Amino acid sequence: MNKVGIEEIPVEGKRVFVRVDFNVPMDEQQNITDDTRIRAALPTITFLAEKGAKVILASHLGRPKGKVNLKYSLAPISIRLAQLLNKEVLMAKDCIGPEVQAQAGRLKNGEIILLENVRFHNEEEENDPKFAEKLAGLADVYVNDAFGTAHRAHASTEGIAGYIPAYAGFLMKKEVDIMGKALENPARPFIAVIGGAKVSDKIAVIENLLSKVDNLIIGGGMANTFLKAQGYEVGSSLAENDKVSLARELLGKAQNSGVKLMLPTDVVAAREFSANTPSRVVKVTEIQTDEQALDIGPESAESFAEAIHSAMTVIWNGPMGVFEMAPFAKGTERIARAMAECHGVTIVGGGDSVAAVEKMGVAEKLTHISTGGGASLEFLEGKILPGVAALQDKE
Ligand code: ADP
Ligand code: MG
Repeated sequence: MNKVGIEEIPVEGKRVFVRVDFNVPMDEQQNITDDTRIRAALPTITFLAEKGAKVILASHLGRPKGKVNLKYSLAPISIRLAQLLNKEVLMAKDCIGPEVQAQAGRLKNGEIILLENVRFHNEEEENDPKFAEKLAGLADVYVNDAFGTAHRAHASTEGIAGYIPAYAGFLMKKEVDIMGKALENPARPFIAVIGGAKVSDKIAVIENLLSKVDNLIIGGGMANTFLKAQGYEVGSSLAENDKVSLARELLGKAQNSGVKLMLPTDVVAAREFSANTPSRVVKVTEIQTDEQALDIGPESAESFAEAIHSAMTVIWNGPMGVFEMAPFAKGTERIARAMAECHGVTIVGGGDSVAAVEKMGVAEKLTHISTGGGASLEFLEGKILPGVAALQDKE
C-alpha cells in the first residue's frame, strides 16, 4: 500500500478537489470550539495553493440528514480557515449546481473556495454515481486528506475517484504510510497494547493483530474478560460473560502462533465506580466479589512498560483503566510515558487513547497519532478502507 502523494503530481493551474475533514465541534451559536481538524488540513491546502492549484475544498459537518440545514453550514469554518491561512477563502452556497460550477471555473491559480456541506444532499452518503460525477465535474484532480471518513464509501470520499485521478493529501499519506508499514512490514519486536472498556468492540482488531505481533498486551476493562477466561474471579468488574469463551479461544490462538500475551497481574480495585471512593492495589488472584478492577496495578504497568521500551514498533489502542478519574489513570499514564520513551515507531489510535496521550502531554514524543477513530480501528482490523483503496497506488 503505497499511495501517490500530492508532491508527486503537477498541480499548477489545475482545479484540485480536496476532501478535508472539517467536521469540527461547535457550540449552539456555531462558534468553533476546537479547530484542531482545520489546522491539521493546513499543510495540504497551503502546499496546493502555493504550487498554483485552484483549490476546491469539501467536507461534511454533523448529520444534516440530506437536507439543507444552516445549523450545519460550513460558512463559519471558511472564516476561521481564512484567518488561519491569512488569505481569502471563498464560500460556495452549495457543493454542486451551475452557480458553484461557474465559481469553480473562475478560480485563479492559488485561490481557495470552500464548498457547502456535502451532506446537505442525500446522494453523498448514498454514494450516488451521478452526484459523485457532478462533484468530479468541478475539478481536474481529486485529493483526499480526510482519513477519518475513509472507512465510509461516500460520494466525496470514494465515488468521485471513479471520475478524476485521485491522490493522497499529506494527512492521509502519513496515516497510510505509518500504519500500513506497521501492519505490513513492521520493525520487530512489534507490540500491540489493547485496552478500553469492552472486548466486543475490539475482537476483530485483536484477531488481526494476533497474526502480526510478537507480543500482545491486554489491559483496561477488557482484560477482565480474559482473566475470567483464565479462571480468575474478577468480582463486580466490567466483564462480558458472553465473550469469555471467545477470550479463551484468542488466548489459545496466541499460544499457537507463538505470540506472547500479557495480562495484568495486579489491578487497582474499588467498591464503587467513582473518583472519590477508596481504592487498593490487589493481585488478580485476590479481587473480592464486591470489588471492581478499574485500572491495571503498578506491577503490571511496570512489566508492560518494560516490554514497550524494548519494542521497535508499538501500536496502542484503548486506555488501561478508567483514566477519566485520577485514582484510576496511573496505568494509562505509565503506558503513555513508556511510549514516549520508546525508541521505536510508536502509534496511538482510538478516540479515548488519543485524548489520554494529549492530556498527558506526550503526543509530540510519539511517531504518529491516528486522527480517525472509526477509520483507524477498521485499519487495525485489517479491513480495506474504501476511501484509501480509491486512491492511486505508486507504480
Ligand atoms: P478508544 O476510544 O481509545 O478506542 P475505548 O473507547 O475502547 O478506547 O475505551 C475507553 C473507555 O474504556 C474509557 O472511557 C475508560 O474509562 C474505559 N475503561 C478502561 N478500563 C476500564 C475498566 N477497568 N473498567 C471500566 N471501564 C474501563
Ligand atoms: Mg472510545
